[in-house]
Amino acid sequence: QQKQVETERIYNTQCPYCSMQCKMQLVEQTHVKRKTYKTIGTDNPTSQGRLCIKGMNAHQHPLHKDRIQYPLLKVNGEFVKISWKEALHYIKENVTEIQEKNGADALGVYGSASITNEEAYLLGKFARVALKTKYIDYNGRLCMSAAASAASKTFGMDRGFTNSLQEIPFTECIMLAGTNIAECQPTIMPYFEKAKENGAFIIAIDPRETATTKIADLHLKLKPGSDAALANGILKVLIEENYLDERFLQERVNGFEEVIQYVASLEFNIIEEITGVPLEEMYQAARMFGQRKTGMIFTARGVEQQTDGSAAVQNFLNILLSVGKIGKPRCGYGAITGQGNGQGAREHGQKADQLPGYRSIENHEHRMYIADVWNIEEKDLPRKGVSAYEMIEKIHDGEIKGLFLMCSNPAVSNPNANFVKKAFEKLEFLVVADMFESETAKLANLILPASSYLEDEGTMTNIEGRVTLREASFPCHGEIKHDWEILCEIAKVLGKEEHFSFASAEEIFNELRIASKGGIADYSGITYERLREEKGILWPCRSLTDKGTERLFETRFAHSDGKAMMVPVSNQAIVPKAKITEKYPLYLTTGRVMSHYLTGVQTRKSASLSARNFESFMEIHPSTAKKYEISNQELVQIESSYGRIVVRSKFSEGIRPDTVFVPFHWADSQNVNNLVSEKLDPACKMPGFKVSAVNISPSVKR
Ligand code: SF4
Repeated sequence: QQKQVETERIYNTQCPYCSMQCKMQLVEQTHVKRKTYKTIGTDNPTSQGRLCIKGMNAHQHPLHKDRIQYPLLKVNGEFVKISWKEALHYIKENVTEIQEKNGADALGVYGSASITNEEAYLLGKFARVALKTKYIDYNGRLCMSAAASAASKTFGMDRGFTNSLQEIPFTECIMLAGTNIAECQPTIMPYFEKAKENGAFIIAIDPRETATTKIADLHLKLKPGSDAALANGILKVLIEENYLDERFLQERVNGFEEVIQYVASLEFNIIEEITGVPLEEMYQAARMFGQRKTGMIFTARGVEQQTDGSAAVQNFLNILLSVGKIGKPRCGYGAITGQGNGQGAREHGQKADQLPGYRSIENHEHRMYIADVWNIEEKDLPRKGVSAYEMIEKIHDGEIKGLFLMCSNPAVSNPNANFVKKAFEKLEFLVVADMFESETAKLANLILPASSYLEDEGTMTNIEGRVTLREASFPCHGEIKHDWEILCEIAKVLGKEEHFSFASAEEIFNELRIASKGGIADYSGITYERLREEKGILWPCRSLTDKGTERLFETRFAHSDGKAMMVPVSNQAIVPKAKITEKYPLYLTTGRVMSHYLTGVQTRKSASLSARNFESFMEIHPSTAKKYEISNQELVQIESSYGRIVVRSKFSEGIRPDTVFVPFHWADSQNVNNLVSEKLDPACKMPGFKVSAVNISPSVKR
């Protein structure tokens, strides 16, 4: 009787988690005494109806009892409920006081790659027009910046995937470098499984065996941080054995002679020593990639989150260009984006150095164009700011005194997390818009109730560069507002109503289209109406009759002369990586597990997802554990020169004996970022999350 369904409602939406942006429906059933919910996948060109465990349980966090439903002001150390009117008044008073005393740049804005394109666009405009501050950056800096920087330097533009996913099953050789797609973007796996069925040779590059390396024909189990050197080893074989596509290089690439000359000067035995990969395996990888007619390379955080992440990715692109496997059917590159809107959120002006459409904030013409769209004087448009972690250093130094933060948890996600928390505690004014009291929100003066993926309408740009429309049919409960509404209301109390008088996400998108027109990420031909009809469009899309761009670089690259650019990449990073020593004798590398997303603020609220992984762990080879007298499933202390954490051991024969692995979804004493160095890649300001040097010991002394 209890189970009898009285009514059923369907809400169309997209998964809030990874960059696949799987389309799905929330099914709400009303029974005699209660409501039940389930999430099911729906057909679309990218995920084709599939969902992973995160998607299937995605409704659990927005419906959670801990959702923040009204503004909360911290009074005597406790959060108390206040009205929106009081919250906006509090913001106005603090913004005015701080900026009058210290100047406009005393305020900063910290954004997110989980918000919609409209919100990413609006947040950049909010910082520069409403607050007039140069300090804005976002959490994608810790995620996609190395791949974006490498693609921009090599190809002249950055769309993560140069091809649509539909080409993957038909390519003949695939290199998966530093990516665990089987856990991080599970619904992409069938594309690779199909390729394997069709005869593709798959090469995985990772210091440990994962669910992804299981599909590989060859697994190069390199030392953490040695990706650039490994790419040099593969290049050296390609050159020696004459697999180069000379015609392609002559006609379409600059800089290849310098790369050939440099790589020829390197010695195999040194590369072997740096990478820990046997020479014969490098030969096998290079031969397979060189011999097959078609091939694709994919990189992710394993290559990118290093102090030479940008250069390491460039070196994998050197491999691709040297054999001419790009700009042709079934050949290309893919940067596997992590966050839900990892692609779109980096295109519309949230980055310290960029304006919408990937325009440069330092280019006069670009500044003039955007100033015109925003109806301000070019001279009033702030200049370039600093990257996410550098903003935190400025908070610590007292230069930034107030911060607006949207949908991000930087107190946990940044490297050197103990320092970051101390920096946030110094802020005079911290406003956080979020769904939950995250570890960062707990440090805020004011928390604003933000909307979830179910309530928040807008466009997202998925892993392929396909712009999709996420409908928002579920109502906002309590006093929750759409994130874009929150920004507009704050801008209005700051006297900027004329620039922020938007009545819907679609209106913001229509301004974004104009702002992006003529830029690299050109969305001007995309409309909500088209997105509803066509189920997504790959940018650039320059007019209403443009079908979008499935494959990039078929006739020219995006540099002004139409050619790609190769540059030699050193085996060693300019900013040194952590080295193992007697005191810290093991490498630590970090990553994700399937059931959690980012710092776990949302997924740790989900009973089903938490049940799969309710605490962090340290993966360790049994032979290493024996040396340190550590048993399986025992609490272990891990210590670096930055801090220490305690997590449970988990034995794995698949990890290198000189390396331990800890996922990054947990906070406080389990937060692995407490152990990570603050050193940044000078090219893109990416921290070196993937290599630390640590010591380990049983947590309870025996
Ligand atoms: Fe799809 Fe990613 Fe969501 Fe899983 S987490 S359902 S793969 S969007």
